[in-house]
Amino acid sequence: MKKIGSALLAAALLGGVLAGCSAGGGGKESGGNGAAEPKVGVAIYKFDDTFMTGVRNSIEKNASGIAKVDIVDSQNSQPTQNDKIDLFLTKKTNALIVNPVDRTAAGVIIDKAKAKETPVVFLNREPLPEDMKKWDKVYYVGAKAEESGTLSGQIVVDYWKANPKADKNGDGVLQYVMLKGEPGHQDAELRTQYSIQAVEDAGIKVEKVAEDTAMWDRVKGQEKMAAFLAANGDKIEAVFANNDDMALGAIEALKAAGYFTGDKYMPVVGVDATAPALQALEQGTMLGTVLNDAENQGKAAVTLASLLAKGGEVNKDSVGFEITDNQYVWIPYQKVTKENAAQFK
Ligand code: BGC
Ligand code: CA
Repeated sequence: MKKIGSALLAAALLGGVLAGCSAGGGGKESGGNGAAEPKVGVAIYKFDDTFMTGVRNSIEKNASGIAKVDIVDSQNSQPTQNDKIDLFLTKKTNALIVNPVDRTAAGVIIDKAKAKETPVVFLNREPLPEDMKKWDKVYYVGAKAEESGTLSGQIVVDYWKANPKADKNGDGVLQYVMLKGEPGHQDAELRTQYSIQAVEDAGIKVEKVAEDTAMWDRVKGQEKMAAFLAANGDKIEAVFANNDDMALGAIEALKAAGYFTGDKYMPVVGVDATAPALQALEQGTMLGTVLNDAENQGKAAVTLASLLAKGGEVNKDSVGFEITDNQYVWIPYQKVTKENAAQFK
């Protein structure tokens, strides 16, 4: 066990070093114009995450001409991420972009980075406010989780109001199931809360039939939804999922149970607006989603990191995004349904 672990670690480290070489070794984006681009180390919580893959691609694309990025996979392990950050700091990286595995680990990361005067931009997993206050060279780029919850709830409200048959048992109450992301993640907690809040705020009574975490994962979403269906069958009138991957998994389970053929329908909402989700919207299996803007989150993070690395002034003009409370960049969410799906492709 231990042997395999260290072999894997060695392979991962080697991979990281090689990736570092190729990013910094005169690839077509780097060098050429003489001015040295700062080195930015990027640690993603895990590469195998659909949404974070979009953010990663955006960081890479938008780094062109402003930073040499070295992007590493923390493999969903905080100790692994800490090791990778230590390595960045000893390699004299000029700034860090960190998508923490565990957002409560941000404090320790900030302490280390501050000791080496290396600014840090956190991404997607929001550090606790007390940690953000540890140093003024710490930023967070993300989206307001509450907002995505509210928007996904509103999509269900619109459907419910337009379709009297949506109340399958005719009791005037919306019976729903909730597929939650990783517990403790601000997006999981707040989307769960605010989506239902939006339904209640619209004057609709709700009853939670079941709730479980599927850890942002499509396969787990499918398994949990199959279990919900086995236990509660026809009682369910709507499915809320904290992200698109879990919503798409739920749709698979629903299809296997005969939904989306004839007039057997289930409203399913997600968050992210990933490519497969947009496709499901157009096919009519997914009712709606909310754009979690990977492109702009990646762009803001790398622009900010490049500026901080160069010691430049950080403001709306230099970053191209509004800075709130001197440390936060908030990228807005948008409602996406079949009607406007094409514009997000
Ligand atoms: C996204 C999820 C993703 C998670 C990773 C969320 O904002 O909606 O799809 O898995 O971030 O931290
Ligand atoms: Ca009902």
